[in-house]
Amino acid sequence: MGTRESKVAVVRCDSYAPDKVRSAVREAIELLGGLDSIFGDAKAVKTLGKNAEILLKPNLLSRAAPEKAVTTHPEVFRAVGELLQEEGYSNLAYGDSPGNPAFGMVKTAEVCGIKAVADELGIREGDFNHGTEVEYPEGRVAKHFVLCDEVVKVTGADGSAPAGVIVNVCKMKTHQLTRITGAVKNTFGCVYSINKAASHAKFQSPEHFARMLADLNGLVRPCLHIMDGIVAMEGNGPGSGDPTHINALLVSKDPVALDAVFCNLIYLDPELVATNTACMDAGVGTWDDGEIEILLGGVPMQREGAVITVDELEVKYADKDFNVQRSRDFRGSMSMMPLVGRFAGKKPIVIKRKCVGCGICVETCPLENKAISIRNDIYSRPVAEYDYSRCIKCYCCQEMCPERAITVKKSLLAKIIDRRWKV
Ligand code: SF4
Ligand code: SF4
Repeated sequence: MGTRESKVAVVRCDSYAPDKVRSAVREAIELLGGLDSIFGDAKAVKTLGKNAEILLKPNLLSRAAPEKAVTTHPEVFRAVGELLQEEGYSNLAYGDSPGNPAFGMVKTAEVCGIKAVADELGIREGDFNHGTEVEYPEGRVAKHFVLCDEVVKVTGADGSAPAGVIVNVCKMKTHQLTRITGAVKNTFGCVYSINKAASHAKFQSPEHFARMLADLNGLVRPCLHIMDGIVAMEGNGPGSGDPTHINALLVSKDPVALDAVFCNLIYLDPELVATNTACMDAGVGTWDDGEIEILLGGVPMQREGAVITVDELEVKYADKDFNVQRSRDFRGSMSMMPLVGRFAGKKPIVIKRKCVGCGICVETCPLENKAISIRNDIYSRPVAEYDYSRCIKCYCCQEMCPERAITVKKSLLAKIIDRRWKV
């Protein structure tokens, strides 16, 4: 990547009032040169023009109301859909592969408020109910994927002519395995159904998992990434954390640059996020602030125009109290040093009073020999219980628990470091 190759628009927006979100999305797209210029290089748009399919890929992790900040807010989805239609892109579809395949995409989209907006705008449901295995010989660690059929069609991942492009409409959240989930991680929902769990079992460490995500991003390459960071999720993300205002909409063609700027806004060193480093190594994008141009919108015009530096962004807008893992290494190399690992480690735990014994965590665990099971407690109440000797700490169970009954127990040292220390 050359100097200042990746542009990230950061537009301040303090609520989901439709007018505000609409104008923030428009300003961000204008700062990046407009939709036609953004889509201009895409093969499908070159051949099909505005008949190319635009597949909107929101975050539909689980059946959660918009105010929980688990999923992309429907007003952001609406603003993006409306803008595309006004610019003449009328062949729109949407979809995601939810965390729990048993609930299905449409049911999940209903609760998240996305389906109602899609129906109103005439955006059809993409086929995320079938999957196709595709080869990816260029992959560094993943040489094949089972992708949802709509993704295969749009990207041409099976060698066919691509029918369109993906617009990744992701959510700004914390994640227990990868620290954050943003643009790069949101593409994991292109993987079909239980194959996501299989990937967790195969790529167990955060670094290995990140390299698989880098391969996936290299394969599906969304054309545009739009992050809903108006209300983000901090703490026990991506499913059980706390909503908190960051008041920003982030837009870029480069998912790594976008995630790096997300890190800057929450005072987390972008280099500590394994998806950033793995994707930069794989040529997907850059997290290096010397190569990123930040274009600020939603504020009175700056003296020097819209361009601001990472330092200026941090000083003015970073939330230093945002609850995210900031310790340098909480699992990888430290787990090789038992003593340090003990003082800086973490693990999932069940909050027994919240657990209703539904067993979703057991279903979600990707291991054949499950590391979590349902047992009766001393009052004969069914509750989930870990077998830490088997647990690979992928946090899929924590991600999907509908009762927010699984949290992460951190050592005292990890808690102190995570508080504010940007290393
Ligand atoms: S921990 Fe959560 S998912 Fe697991 S049984 Fe309890 S309530 Fe259900
Ligand atoms: S018990 Fe939870 S954290 Fe452990 S391997 Fe299973 S899903 Fe992953």
